[in-house]
Amino acid sequence: MQIGIDVGGTKLEAAALNADGAIVARLRVPNPGSYDGCVHALVDLVAQIEAQIGARGSVGVGLPGFTSPRDGLVRNANATFLNGRPVRDDLTTALGRPVRVANDANCMVLSEAVDGAGAAGRVVFGVIVGTGVGGGLVVDGRIVEGANGLGGEWGHLPVPWLRNEEADAACWCGQYGCMETMISGTGFERVHRLRTGVSLSGPAITAAARDGDGAARASLDSYVDRLGRALAMIVNIVDPDVIVLAGGMSNVSEIYAPLPAIVRAHVFGGVWDAPIVPARWGDSSGVRGAARLWPTTA
Ligand SMILES: [Zn+2]
Repeated sequence: MQIGIDVGGTKLEAAALNADGAIVARLRVPNPGSYDGCVHALVDLVAQIEAQIGARGSVGVGLPGFTSPRDGLVRNANATFLNGRPVRDDLTTALGRPVRVANDANCMVLSEAVDGAGAAGRVVFGVIVGTGVGGGLVVDGRIVEGANGLGGEWGHLPVPWLRNEEADAACWCGQYGCMETMISGTGFERVHRLRTGVSLSGPAITAAARDGDGAARASLDSYVDRLGRALAMIVNIVDPDVIVLAGGMSNVSEIYAPLPAIVRAHVFGGVWDAPIVPARWGDSSGVRGAARLWPTTA
């Protein structure tokens, strides 16, 4: 049995997968918001899940931020109480078994690469375009963590080939013009406000575009153009077999038809073809991918 845990800013979610990849137990509790509280809650969750399934499982944990392969400490998590903490080692001690941890976007991509929308590809790049932006790269069913734990950290690169209307913005990470400020759902809203002077939620902009509002349509087109440019940059580095999109903006169906032509127009040589598809597992990708940090067992 594989147990996967997704550590979110406000909640902790755990699920157990059987050998067929079916979720056989699932629990969700609030994130206590402190480091010790979080570790205790995670240990409790594993105990409750194992009581439900009547078996001991492997434990994988998806976290915000990344874990340095050099010192095992978490960095750049928006749940800031995790930063500088040896989460993997503390959970390994508390649970009495080896625990694997990975970035939450990496878990999403792993889940999709194993048995989701990316299952047909050897090289799968995936991005979360939600409140924030994250990315991950999976090759042959394994996350590319990288020498420093930075593999797939796409969200804090700058948007390439910047247009005039996309005035760059300070990002919480200390840089300017990051994708997180322009390709996230909140970035979609921010650039619409820059273009029109009107503050609307992302879903409201999308609804207005569908109703024929020209300014909203232009903001959606501009968003898709940014996303296509940002994906072209990845194509020129790893040229994935499949690109998977997750998060709120991935549910906007209008983005998929125009994306390939935008990517093609920005890749070296102008000839490119690969599927860009929405994630299969939606909100379950986090726990499913965390569980898949360990191999399937009977
Ligand atoms: Zn940034």
